[in-house]
Amino acid sequence: MAGCAASIALARKGRRVTLIEREPTPRHKVCGEFLSGEALEDLHALGIDVASLGAVPIDYVRLAAARRAAEAPLPFSAASLTRKALDTALIAEAIGAGVRVERGRSVKTLARTAPNVWQVTLDDGTTFEAPTVFLATGKHDLRGHARPEDPQRWVAFKMYFQLTRGQAAELEHASELMLYPGGYGGIQPVEGGIANFCCVVQQRYLARVGHRWENFLAKVQQDCPHLAMRLAGAEPLLAKPIAVTHIPYGYIRPTSENGLYCIGDQAAVIPSFTGDGISIALHTARCAVAAYVAEEPAPVFQAKLRSALMTQMRLAELAADGLNNGFARAVLPFCLRVWPGVMRVTAKLTRVAHQAAVVPMQAPAEV
Ligand SMILES: Cc1cc2nc3c(=O)[nH]c(=O)nc-3n(C[C@H](O)[C@H](O)[C@H](O)COP(=O)(O)OP(=O)(O)OC[C@H]3O[C@@H](n4cnc5c(N)ncnc54)[C@H](O)[C@@H]3O)c2cc1C
Repeated sequence: MAGCAASIALARKGRRVTLIEREPTPRHKVCGEFLSGEALEDLHALGIDVASLGAVPIDYVRLAAARRAAEAPLPFSAASLTRKALDTALIAEAIGAGVRVERGRSVKTLARTAPNVWQVTLDDGTTFEAPTVFLATGKHDLRGHARPEDPQRWVAFKMYFQLTRGQAAELEHASELMLYPGGYGGIQPVEGGIANFCCVVQQRYLARVGHRWENFLAKVQQDCPHLAMRLAGAEPLLAKPIAVTHIPYGYIRPTSENGLYCIGDQAAVIPSFTGDGISIALHTARCAVAAYVAEEPAPVFQAKLRSALMTQMRLAELAADGLNNGFARAVLPFCLRVWPGVMRVTAKLTRVAHQAAVVPMQAPAEV
């Protein structure tokens, strides 16, 4: 997401860009696939028309815990679209913009070999050299540039379901957040009349059910009857769920080296319940390109980005702690019914604001 966005913006400014992507073709990724208003704006600016790709409008957020659920309209327009569809469109846009796209090729190492030279070595031994690199490997770290450990040891899963007709109608235009001990999950419709269930759980809770997806899903439905209702009679559409581990929520990269702009999940990892990771990926890509064009050194950019994202990140972490608290889980839906405005306020506060853009220090250089 961040890598494509930065490549497109740079190529449109007349820069020579090579995008290295290890997947030969876009595939399903662990993601709730919720596109916030800011993400939609950035995608539109990149030339991506999500409606024409089949994106489903999302108007409501519903919170369910224990035996209660509460609902509030979203304070911004939002949509949902599978990552496979979105990534396919972004790669095509990058190729159209003149980016040299190397697909099915994996970066093994990234090292500075001279003051103004970064060398990228691929798994087949091929090397590329460039004065500037944008690091956008998402959830996967490169040796020597890794993010810190994830102390909570989060595990994330995604599964598509064909819901029964009645349950699909109930879920129409809504994104539902379910709380359960050790984590939370979200279910929402995506294109093609199917639903995405994406969830996170701390490894020690997964251990209690023998690290098995079927046991975990059964336990979550037991703890959250709202999910059991949604999934009653539903048909799983993937042979097994897609999973990832090592998600250092709350991380913001403090600094970087000259010529290395870190973007997307390599710059910051916001708790997933906010549905704002894609927006941050696009936002950090846009800001990094502006900084690069203005010849702002990467370490200065990275430090400014950190302070611009800090408040949003800390608020999101505070809210995530609340969701993981047993007492809060019990009373939250009740409180939200009484005062649904809280949900709208939380949704707004945990968003990356466009005015939080990182303005480069120097005037843009000639392109
Ligand atoms: C459980 C969960 C649910 C989420 N739900 C949402 C949501 O609903 N809405 C939302 O906005 N955000 C959500 N997010 C966050 C969102 O998925 C990420 O923030 C976003 O994808 C980050 O974009 P990125 O460009 O940094 O990484 P990615 O989109 O993951 O892209 C990284 C790319 O780098 C490639 N790559 C990795 N390593 C190498 C290598 N060595 N060589 C070459 N290529 C490589 C990968 O193949 C991949 O294509 C969720 C995250 C999780 C964990």
